[in-house]
Amino acid sequence: MRIVVTGGAGFLGSHLCDRLLAEGHEVISIDNLITGSISNIEHIRNKNFTFIFYDVTNYLYVDGQVDFVFHFASPASPIDYLELPIQTLKVGSLGTHKALGLAKHKNAGFLLASTSETYGDPLINPQHEEYWGNVNPVGPRGVYDEAKRFAEAMTMAYYTFHKVDTRIVRIFNTYGPRNRANDGRVVPSFINQAIRNEPITVFGEGKQTRSFCYVSDLIDGIYRLMKSDEHWPVNIGNPNEMTILQFAEIIIELTKSKSKIIHEPLPQDDPAVRRPDISKAKRILGWEPTVDIREGLSRTIEYYRALMHQK
Ligand code: UDP
Repeated sequence: MRIVVTGGAGFLGSHLCDRLLAEGHEVISIDNLITGSISNIEHIRNKNFTFIFYDVTNYLYVDGQVDFVFHFASPASPIDYLELPIQTLKVGSLGTHKALGLAKHKNAGFLLASTSETYGDPLINPQHEEYWGNVNPVGPRGVYDEAKRFAEAMTMAYYTFHKVDTRIVRIFNTYGPRNRANDGRVVPSFINQAIRNEPITVFGEGKQTRSFCYVSDLIDGIYRLMKSDEHWPVNIGNPNEMTILQFAEIIIELTKSKSKIIHEPLPQDDPAVRRPDISKAKRILGWEPTVDIREGLSRTIEYYRALMHQK
């Protein structure tokens, strides 16, 4: 297939490009590089790969046949969307509209990268796909959460009204190489603090929970979703839930760090719990994560150590 990936120089987008190329597809990666980076794709030496520097909130034109569109462009870290609130809203709304428009025009399939943030600060745990969520539209995270909720609504409208062959994945916390070292998310932050023996900044008491999925597992779930015929949202993530304090302790142990844990204020609307119910993905995609957290974290630590030594 000839496949367009918006956000194709980002953390997940670049791993998705790698997988699509390995499966023999032709890939056109589009990114405006505001949170993505050329360094995520510069290893690709493949005649089937093209990179286009472009902001997908503008009219999106791609020459020739397109069989599938993945819409992965978006800032995705709480710090990024505090710094880029308008861009976050625009890429989730206008960007999704343009990417859907491209899919419709080319008669292509479409897959939206949505998020566990559509569940907000959830009142049930784990979260299954039928849960409507608990989102504060006017809080600091609203720019991301509401843009992605709008993106889901827009995707379903293109499915029902225009009969575009759409998919929606709700992505839970994912980690691995190429997640920007300074993007403020907990995995890159804790690892980079630990390998420098700097204090580990646990927000609040650290009793809030997250469930971390290694990037190769996530991409495999997404690839299977592309090949399925499921049009309703599907959670992809690892149900291995832990508190942020426990997570900090694992990082200290794996890096053999001398870092001490310090506490900083809990950001507003930080979800108290998050864990995916993946029964649907298991049932319809035959998918579940396989990479153990210590194995995945060890690979990720190696990546950040190498980056640190390059500097
Ligand atoms: N967090 C933390 N210290 C940090 C960064 C994040 O304690 O330096 C916490 C944050 O408050 C949240 C969790 O770790 O409870 C995960 O945060 P992240 O920014 O990775 O993404 P989120 O899951 O909130 O979207």
